[in-house]
Amino acid sequence: MKRWLFTFSLFFSLPTLALVILIDPGHGGEDEGARARYYYGKKKWRLIREKDIALSLAKKIHAELGKRNYNSYLTRSVDRTVTLAERAEIAEKIKADFFLSVHVNASEANEPRGFETYYLDNHQDSAIKKVERVENKNLEGEELIVNKILTDLVIDRTVKSSKPLAQSIHSRIQKLVGRKYKLKDRGVKPGLFYVLALTKRPAILLEVGFLSNSRELKKILDEKFQNRYAKAVAQGLDDYIKKNAKTEPSLL
Ligand SMILES: [Zn+2]
Repeated sequence: MKRWLFTFSLFFSLPTLALVILIDPGHGGEDEGARARYYYGKKKWRLIREKDIALSLAKKIHAELGKRNYNSYLTRSVDRTVTLAERAEIAEKIKADFFLSVHVNASEANEPRGFETYYLDNHQDSAIKKVERVENKNLEGEELIVNKILTDLVIDRTVKSSKPLAQSIHSRIQKLVGRKYKLKDRGVKPGLFYVLALTKRPAILLEVGFLSNSRELKKILDEKFQNRYAKAVAQGLDDYIKKNAKTEPSLL
């Protein structure tokens, strides 16, 4: 009996129980993602690239998760090219429980603004195709992969946890960042992103805001904004884990 108890407590104290989170800064290297000019004077500007903001935010999220009981990793920690397939390979290698991809939105018009959160769903809505095209643009053999994703049963399974995970994180972003910085809440949406599909695990994609909107870009570039955003993502993940560990452990 005593031996059983000992084994039991040993099992529950194993450090391997910490969840493995893979944070994916979108783009990198020759794939710059979206670009915008940031004016800090009448004629003075500098070029802002999505890949740099995504990396900066991802590192902050990584640090926040490190303060908590998570094993967190980055798909890239420097400015380098990483294909979508390579990102998925990393997820497999480290046996990630969750995959969080960080992006910044852009539009040809100046007005669009706000934050949105996508979760992988292969029963997709055509209205969200536009964003997906931007994030998916570096892929070869596109049609083949789309067909594969649409019929992938693994995705059907991961949607069950991807959606509530997206909702938990999005809601914390709204509370901690959205209200303070007066950001427009564009909602939680289903999306067909290859990078999410290829990872074959619960995955979400964060669009932090629009770098094509100069007022919003100024907020996103702010260090305090980024720190708050990272904290919100970590708290949202905590919320999800607490909620689902109580009700349905299988969702983890
Ligand atoms: Zn992107």
